[in-house]
Amino acid sequence: MSLAEQLYKLQQVDTELQRRQQELKDIEDRLSDDKALVAAESEIAEQKEQLEDAKKRQKDSEWELEDLQEKVRKIDSKLYSGTTKDSKELVNLEKEVKSLKSQIRPKEDALLVLMSQVEEIEAKVGITAEEIERLKREWEQSQETLGQRKSEVETVLAKLRGDRNILERQIDPEVINTYERLRLTSGQAVVKVERGKCQGCHITVPTSQWQKAKAGDLIQCTSCSKILYLE
Ligand SMILES: [Zn+2]
Repeated sequence: MSLAEQLYKLQQVDTELQRRQQELKDIEDRLSDDKALVAAESEIAEQKEQLEDAKKRQKDSEWELEDLQEKVRKIDSKLYSGTTKDSKELVNLEKEVKSLKSQIRPKEDALLVLMSQVEEIEAKVGITAEEIERLKREWEQSQETLGQRKSEVETVLAKLRGDRNILERQIDPEVINTYERLRLTSGQAVVKVERGKCQGCHITVPTSQWQKAKAGDLIQCTSCSKILYLE
């Protein structure tokens, strides 16, 4: 195997390593991504707070109404028991009971509104709770499949790292440095020469150059500096 071919193989391994490392990172990102669940949980917490508030207002309204009804009952029994003989007092009591009764209807209407608000919020809480259950099931499933995928990719990565070490040991460290530098600056360090042209920059490679490359010398393209590889 010529040096250029060894470097070309190394580059293939490195490219695959990069791709698999990115894949692993994506899997890890997805494994830790619980944003949807966190958002739904904060939503239900807010809805439950609203529900508590609405229920409290409903209770207050019920008490006010009961209080009013109790007052009316008391005055009514006073009026009809016949214990009060004083006509002025009777008139006052009748006035009072009339005023109290006029307050009952609006209170009842307000209570109905509050009750329907409570029902509405309860329905919302129910929907969000279902959504949370769904997200939790999804989360568990994806943790399982992604976990499997992760260990598969890790196995592949370990194999690639092993391959890389073997290849690297066969190559002169100075050549490896040149290779690494080229990969760092232009992504690709080794390019094929096809139909006499460098596949890195598409410039025609002088015959003497590609002949040397074919013979196994380490030749860099005069135009793009990439290492030339001829099959
Ligand atoms: Zn070139």
